[in-house]
Amino acid sequence: MKGEPSINTNNLTAVQLMELDACVRCGECVNWCPTYDAANKDPGLAPRDKILRWRQFMNKSYGLRARLFGPKAIPEEDIEQFKDDVYKCTTCGMCATVCEVGINTIELWESMRANLVKRGNGPYGKQGMFVKLIGEYMNPYMADNKDRLSWIPDDVKIADKAEILYFGGCTAELRQQKLAFATARVLNHLGIEFTMLGEDEVCCCSALVRTGQYEIEDIARKAARKNVDGIVAKGAKKVLYACAGCYRTSLVDWPRLLNEEMPFEIIHITEFLEDLIKEGKLEWKKPFDNLTVTYHDPCHLGRHVGVYNPPRSVLNAIPGINLKEMDRIKENQRCCGAGGGVKAGVPDLALGVAETRVQDALAKNPDILSSACPFCKRNLSDGRDSLGADELVVEDVIVLTAEALGISLDDCVES
Ligand code: SF4
Ligand code: SF4
Repeated sequence: MKGEPSINTNNLTAVQLMELDACVRCGECVNWCPTYDAANKDPGLAPRDKILRWRQFMNKSYGLRARLFGPKAIPEEDIEQFKDDVYKCTTCGMCATVCEVGINTIELWESMRANLVKRGNGPYGKQGMFVKLIGEYMNPYMADNKDRLSWIPDDVKIADKAEILYFGGCTAELRQQKLAFATARVLNHLGIEFTMLGEDEVCCCSALVRTGQYEIEDIARKAARKNVDGIVAKGAKKVLYACAGCYRTSLVDWPRLLNEEMPFEIIHITEFLEDLIKEGKLEWKKPFDNLTVTYHDPCHLGRHVGVYNPPRSVLNAIPGINLKEMDRIKENQRCCGAGGGVKAGVPDLALGVAETRVQDALAKNPDILSSACPFCKRNLSDGRDSLGADELVVEDVIVLTAEALGISLDDCVES
């Protein structure tokens, strides 16, 4: 009797099954992969190798020989090794950018991960905690969801309902509150009426989607539903994000999870500010004194959704900032190392990638390494600390914006 295939096609689309066959083994992706580099060129992490191994798994399970004589068993240790390797990927998308045949590798890695989760192999290490934490606490930090409001200073005005809603995100509301602080004060300073979800906000579930855990207990879909319904109930037509991860998840993943179009516009705060700058609405009261700033494109804002110029427009508009680009920027940017669950699951690897990215920055001698994502900021700061490059400041574009507008952030205390 023919046995069952060791691997099934769960979570892989027909296009993805064709993409596995489309790889021509050119190896271009291997030349650019940041985790392969940071892991001393471990061949198991090479994107090409992962595609070829999964193709072999599929052939053993469904190829001509399998159809004639039955599937060939795949040793469990091979599948476990594959799982380890596919989770040592930040889903940065660099391999997709350079792929000779246009394979959408970001989606492919995520589909493989979801398949392995269903099979009982994934996720990797501490990434398994995301389900419990988000399911129980509605955020990944084990914080009381009511504390989402606790950073708000007395002077900040947040409307009960408004056409503009700022979706703060777990990291800015519960850990790196300076980002939320700066965003809220900048909006107030510019006279923009906005509302927030407060304790009704739940995690965007980026971590669950990126690690292939989005179907477990239906948590990600339910969270998207609660957030979307909450945003609609607030009367919002535009939703602003200062976290690249929340932005990407809301823009790309919520519509998929809910199988519906979002009934509001989704905008990164730098896109919003870029428009206001063009209209001449920002008055820079505290220009910087000849500050050299470089900018790191977050994968979730850049390669994932194509927002490259707005953060640069904001930085270029701030008087006294001299924007000096790193060699690898925009589509070719090198990842910070935190994404795809790597910071939680394989922290040493995340740090190794961060160190390389900080070295990219240091080569340009900037005063400040800026970004537009709290995860990038945290991991790049860790890379800076590990290199002992104490003179380099790592800061978010919106914080620099607030300072140049003359807004004080001195009273902000982070958790
Ligand atoms: S997505 Fe990035 S980290 Fe993952 S395999 Fe591709 S280049 Fe490497
Ligand atoms: S760049 Fe694309 S075609 Fe070339 S080896 Fe990598 S995945 Fe295959």
